[in-house]
Amino acid sequence: MNYDYDVIILGSGPAGFSAAMQTTKFEKKVLLVEADEKHLGGAWINAGTVPSKALREAAASIHKYNQLFSKQGFGKDYHRYKMADLLRFKEQVVNYENSEVKRNLIKNEVHTARGFGKLIDNHKVEVTNHLGSVSSYTGEFILLSTGSSAQTPKSFKVDDKVVVDNRSLVNMTHVPRRLVIIGGGVNAIEYATIFAALGTKVNLLSSREEYLPFLDAEIHLEFEKMLDELRMVIHNGVEVIGVGQNPLRNCTEVKYRDLDSNELRVIETEQVIHFGVRKPNTDGIGLENAGIETDESGYIMVNEHYQTSCENVYAAGDIVGFPGLASASFTQGRIASCHMAGIKGLKLSGAHPFGIYTIPEISSIGLTEEEAKAQGLDYTIGRAYYKELTKSSVSNTQLGLLKMVIDSKSLSLLGVHIVGESACDIIHLGQAVIKNKVDIRYFVDNILNYPTFSEAYRVAAFNGLNRVNKSGVKYRSLISSENGH
Ligand SMILES: Cc1cc2nc3c(=O)[nH]c(=O)nc-3n(C[C@H](O)[C@H](O)[C@H](O)COP(=O)(O)OP(=O)(O)OC[C@H]3O[C@@H](n4cnc5c(N)ncnc54)[C@H](O)[C@@H]3O)c2cc1C
Repeated sequence: MNYDYDVIILGSGPAGFSAAMQTTKFEKKVLLVEADEKHLGGAWINAGTVPSKALREAAASIHKYNQLFSKQGFGKDYHRYKMADLLRFKEQVVNYENSEVKRNLIKNEVHTARGFGKLIDNHKVEVTNHLGSVSSYTGEFILLSTGSSAQTPKSFKVDDKVVVDNRSLVNMTHVPRRLVIIGGGVNAIEYATIFAALGTKVNLLSSREEYLPFLDAEIHLEFEKMLDELRMVIHNGVEVIGVGQNPLRNCTEVKYRDLDSNELRVIETEQVIHFGVRKPNTDGIGLENAGIETDESGYIMVNEHYQTSCENVYAAGDIVGFPGLASASFTQGRIASCHMAGIKGLKLSGAHPFGIYTIPEISSIGLTEEEAKAQGLDYTIGRAYYKELTKSSVSNTQLGLLKMVIDSKSLSLLGVHIVGESACDIIHLGQAVIKNKVDIRYFVDNILNYPTFSEAYRVAAFNGLNRVNKSGVKYRSLISSENGH
């Protein structure tokens, strides 16, 4: 049968974009359908990853400048730096990234159609543009990558002025002195530290019992110390009852209930940012027309090749659920595209890193100490505190920790957990060692650039080797791989 396209992709976020780029390399004809009338790139470029990271970079630079040169005489950060300056910088970055996406799609001859795409059957897509005109296209393969959106709050309204969300926070006219952030996920905590670093007094209200519960406990503790320095307060286990104006005190009030004590409490604030729980964008995309199955939360179920229950329809990115990251979406889209082209061997296996762009960053890969203990493994810990690194001295960054979980016998690396500057970058050194099954002597036998934050691996490896040595293994045999290690 003849189709209009080899592959039709719904959604131009990281999953759709990477699948489109990969598919063109196989000399196949691709149509990329995007519902957003103005922008390509999805939440990745327009509302999520890129804008939040541009604002973070601006806030972290201001914070760092103040750490290096002290705050004396400068006044508070929010007096010196205007929200408009930060937003202008963010806008430049977003515009550049938008133009890069467009340039790459044009260069690789990917066709685009603007409008809301819907499956009519497993080979046919109908696209309705913002003026209501409808076009239909057929494709041998279809990729669904329509992403996810935040659920709206039930007990109050987002008015995009006083109460904003991750999209409308770009309307904020100034850096507020007081801010309440509602939400306990990664994005909420990232934004909380961004504003706290700018001098805002931030209260974060989370319905969860603990924030970031998946972190290694020691890293969590170290991060907590850093939050204290930022004067940020996290209220776990609360339910927000409402947000309203108090005209007498000329402020906004957030009412919430502490779920443990059942007490009602109120926080006065200038502004509120709400981060809703994410849900997949599957409404109206015609899953039923192709017999595509979803799980109990509405996420599309896929196999390791990102194939749905309908063989020629694939799904990737936030629409398939965990981990719901741009980083993973890029790779998932590519794997789906390769599988459509008959390349079967690719799949995501083993441990993957995750990065949390708080100020400072947190990043992790592999087993935490708690997981190693629960599995009954014979492990050793190697630690490097940032204060031990020359790079930290020259950066005036004293707080930070790199922690390694090491297999005591083979000295292989089971996990790496970092909180501190550049954590999201330097984690990849640990990833390479874990994936390539090299042991921790890699860090002590090879020359690493100095001074760098990567040097933390070297310090932690020595620390780990010392511990193994103290447990009775001869040092000479430890440092020589010829002796059984
Ligand atoms: C505030 C915030 C910060 C984040 N920071 C990070 C980070 O630092 N690192 C990281 O890895 N991830 C981050 N993420 C997550 C990341 O943005 C998402 O995981 C990623 O964008 C998901 O990619 P996707 O391709 O699945 O969908 P999206 O990027 O959401 O794109 C989906 C696209 O599909 C379009 N669409 C929807 N329905 C249709 C339809 N029916 N027809 C046609 N088009 C349609 C949408 O308009 C959209 O353009 C962040 C998210 C948020 C909200």
